[in-house]
Amino acid sequence: METLLRDAAAAAGGEKIRALKVRVGPLSGVVVDALRFAFESMAPGTAAEGARLDVVETRPEFRCPDCGRLYETPVGAYRCPGCGSARGELAAGNEMELESIEVQ
Ligand SMILES: [Zn+2]
Repeated sequence: METLLRDAAAAAGGEKIRALKVRVGPLSGVVVDALRFAFESMAPGTAAEGARLDVVETRPEFRCPDCGRLYETPVGAYRCPGCGSARGELAAGNEMELESIEVQ
């Protein structure tokens, strides 16, 4: 969260931030409620004080090294729907990143 706030403040270039949009993957280990709590406690005194936090929860996405297919799958079921390979590599789903900010 500290990094996010720093990135957001840098992106805002000194402007006051009205809202932050953050992408959180289900495999990032980030608990959205905890993230909100951290934001509420850390935002005061920064450019993001009073800003709205929008959390976009992403879905896990895998890339199959055998056929190259990119696919979404529920956590725990990693087989490629194209060729059945179980060697899919996580391509998205473990991110916690700032997607955009709104400034005033
Ligand atoms: Zn495949």
